[in-house]
Amino acid sequence: MEQTLSIIKPDAVKKGVIGKIIDRFESNNLRIAAIKKIQLTQCDAQSFYAIHKDRPFFKDLVEFMISGPVVVMVLEGQNAVAKNRELMGATNPKEAATGTIRADFADSIDANAVHGSDSLENAKNEIAFFFGTREIC
Ligand code: ADP
Ligand code: MG
Repeated sequence: MEQTLSIIKPDAVKKGVIGKIIDRFESNNLRIAAIKKIQLTQCDAQSFYAIHKDRPFFKDLVEFMISGPVVVMVLEGQNAVAKNRELMGATNPKEAATGTIRADFADSIDANAVHGSDSLENAKNEIAFFFGTREIC
């Protein structure tokens, strides 16, 4: 059993598609092991995306991630990291496969509806960033 971190980004929260996105996970054998709706601070977003700090889109990414509340979740299931990435679709919704979350709910490469950990190691770090052990069950 694997765990991964998922974030429903501010664009999708504003659109009112939290339930529709969670349904994609639950319908594909990814269990919600933890969940909370929070407003990220600038420091939160900068440290969460520190790996991208030298990229030209970093400032816009941080601004976008703090533009409204997000829903952070721990998803659990077999091959949870890869399964979540598959359900999300490509970073750019224009390139995302039909039926993926980003194809159906994202507007642009900036406002692309969801985040998902890209490796098991990053998943562990990202889960620990948002959740204490007693919040995951
Ligand atoms: P993913 O979210 O698919 O793992 P990355 O880790 O590469 O993608 O990038 C993190 C986030 O930064 C993306 O989800 C997207 O919101 C934003 N981003 C990535 N590349 C670009 C880009 N070329 N222009 C604008 N925003 C980008
Ligand atoms: Mg990424």
